[in-house]
Amino acid sequence: MSESARARLMSADTIAAGGPAAKSLLHWPERGSVFAERQMRLRQLAQGHAMADFLRFMAELARAQHKALQQSPDVPLPDRPALERADRAGLPVIPAADWPRDAAWREALRAIAKDLRGADIPEGVRAALDALDRMNDDALERQADCLLTGVMHGLDLAAAPLVAAALQVYWTRLALGVQALVEADAGAAAQTDGLGRLSVRIHDPGACPCCGSRPTASLTRSTGAASGQRFLHCSLCSVQWPLPRIQCAYCMASERIFYQSLDAIDASAEESSARAAQAAVQAECCEDCGHYLKIMHRDRDGFVEPVADDLATITLDLLVSEAGLQRHGVNLMLLFGDSEAVPGTVPSGGS
Ligand SMILES: [Zn+2]
Ligand SMILES: [Zn+2]
Repeated sequence: MSESARARLMSADTIAAGGPAAKSLLHWPERGSVFAERQMRLRQLAQGHAMADFLRFMAELARAQHKALQQSPDVPLPDRPALERADRAGLPVIPAADWPRDAAWREALRAIAKDLRGADIPEGVRAALDALDRMNDDALERQADCLLTGVMHGLDLAAAPLVAAALQVYWTRLALGVQALVEADAGAAAQTDGLGRLSVRIHDPGACPCCGSRPTASLTRSTGAASGQRFLHCSLCSVQWPLPRIQCAYCMASERIFYQSLDAIDASAEESSARAAQAAVQAECCEDCGHYLKIMHRDRDGFVEPVADDLATITLDLLVSEAGLQRHGVNLMLLFGDSEAVPGTVPSGGS
């Protein structure tokens, strides 16, 4: 194990210190609201926005995802030995790149496509839907492989957000299944020796503990037991996992972090840092490694949603990338052109 991997593992252990509390470490997606809240937020953000049409289409897509998730069937899950093996090896339990995908994800894609055809969508999207219709199962699987392994070559960029939307529905369904397994195990164990044995632990705090994908953004929670805590939001399976505040999600350094926000663009440096301290969406920038990840504050705006607010603040990406910083967040709905920096997973090995 490399030094940096060891350092990450130690800091994950620090987070996880406290034994039984580890059960509540992850914030699992809610089947009834994960995509519905995104849809609502996108419609809210679209009002008066320069990219209103794009955001409204994204809202339609989130609506179709919500419907597909409600209708999604049970899917094959990792069995108990597989969960235990993954935990021992410090690997994600439903890895984005390697998990044997069930045909259910293609059914979700077809349901989303059918739904969108009946909606008010841009012409370009109709062309992408036509292109998807012409693809057989093998071609669709190749599109999914490209998206999940970060390979741009061969990826149909117009169809990619639709394919990604179906993969998000499928992986969110998988995550919900894993949550049910872990909670049932904890419940059964409570009847005997009081200790659940199955768990999804954080081995690499920079990657999703469930599927190994990179985060879209981070979110500070304002209510409940996790109030004030910061979580990273998985770009694929919607699971959220904790990371201490004021820490770089890429290199884990915490010494030279600074924040940028949109409403500070025209302000003086002094004003800028004062206003950035109040903004609901900021770029958390790291001078050590030159990466940034957006952070969204629920205590400043109770409706912020990682994927929606990321899409609505692309100008912030332009601002910080002009300063030479590199985006760490992945948003499968919006692939940036950089052939290296495309979606999916943190390379295995984790450093
Ligand atoms: Zn994930
Ligand atoms: Zn860093």
